[in-house]
Amino acid sequence: MTTTVRFAPSPTGFIHIGNSRTALFNWLFAKQQGGRFILRFDDTDIGRSKREYADQIETDLAWLGITPDAVERQSERFGAYDAAAERLRKSGLLYACYETAEELERRRRIRLQRRLPPVYGREALKLTEAEKAELEAQGRKPHWRFLLPNFENDPFSTHRTEARWNDIVRGEETVDLASLSDPVLIREDCSYLYTLPSVVDDIDLGVTHVIRGDDHITNTGAQIALFEALGAKPPAFGHHNLLTTASGAGLSKRTGALSIKSLREEGLEPMAIASLATLIGTSEAVTAVADMAGLASGFDIGRSSRSAAKFDPAELIVLNRALLRDRPFGEAQARLVALGISDARAEPFWLAIRGNIEKMNDAAEWWGIVTSGPARPAELGDDDRQFVRDAFDLLPPEPWDGTTWKEWTDLVKVRTGRKGKALFAPLRLALTGVPSGPELADLLPLLGREGTLARRP
Ligand code: GLU
Repeated sequence: MTTTVRFAPSPTGFIHIGNSRTALFNWLFAKQQGGRFILRFDDTDIGRSKREYADQIETDLAWLGITPDAVERQSERFGAYDAAAERLRKSGLLYACYETAEELERRRRIRLQRRLPPVYGREALKLTEAEKAELEAQGRKPHWRFLLPNFENDPFSTHRTEARWNDIVRGEETVDLASLSDPVLIREDCSYLYTLPSVVDDIDLGVTHVIRGDDHITNTGAQIALFEALGAKPPAFGHHNLLTTASGAGLSKRTGALSIKSLREEGLEPMAIASLATLIGTSEAVTAVADMAGLASGFDIGRSSRSAAKFDPAELIVLNRALLRDRPFGEAQARLVALGISDARAEPFWLAIRGNIEKMNDAAEWWGIVTSGPARPAELGDDDRQFVRDAFDLLPPEPWDGTTWKEWTDLVKVRTGRKGKALFAPLRLALTGVPSGPELADLLPLLGREGTLARRP
């Protein structure tokens, strides 16, 4: 059977770096197995789901290098969920309940006082048809619960029933179905919670591996029971650790914090994000991997740790710098052209500056410095100004190359007696307007003699 995975975001906001981890784990796993990757939008919540979020998620994934083999929308599959619900109802596994949230809360407190587990006591199962009709006549609408298989013959006498699976990330896992309330599958307003549609889709789409965050472990127990109730073999499951901020707070889709969209707009490279998202919280060192194939070849889903992965956005910058530093001109060229950097100097310029930029857009600033001079004229004290003027009078004739800088500054050293920082710092400032940056030996030939002389203070 072809390995088939799915990434199943609900399109209620922008995906953030934590969601992208789930997408990447699925994607890399599928790549390794020669399998299929389905993007499934969990958009049964019509009120909160938005098409523009779904479209943005597709854009964000494509930018990261993830191109789904198929896109599915739960909002287009209600017929399949209705049919599954009907099947469960017919076999007595989906039953109508009429309690309000307050009633449920009151009962929960009573159970806690009696030192009973605070699970739903299945009171609605005792309702007669007449009582149900009476409640409906009063205007109550049912919500529907799935009867978990945690009893022998009497649903009011439950016993420990383990749903077990060999988690591809965490190893042996069990959830005791007697410790769970029968999950509500359908709300009063007839809308579906995520539990049933997800299982129906996983069956219909032939999903072989469900890889998702470890906040779903309990769901997995109930969903395994649902797969079986619907006559299907459950897929394999893998639950990865979640990402938190450095202070341990969870990431939220709603706040837009660390969204892929905002990271892209900040100018970060997709592979900086993909490398960090994939490698953080594993036993692997977090390094900048240049492409998805490289990430896939070193990826082992079983190496994720169980505890939450804390991450610091500053790490993204470190990775970004590393990616740019090693990027060959051929791979940077199109982006440079987009920044207006396209003449014959583009290649030596890129090789000169790539080790000194944080983000690709910084190249435009350096290009401005090289082609038009410092953004602001260098502020030099009187002594330094005179020194720079004298030095400029000693500029060698063209042609210039990578050795010109040394030739020139050796001469300046002999003639002025300055050396070290006193020699180099004012020259750098006069040439670039800033105290640090790329090697001047590389920049000087790009400026040319005329361009250099134009900077004479
Ligand atoms: N829509 C669910 C979520 O975003 C999907 C969970 C799953 O992968 O089954 O949490």
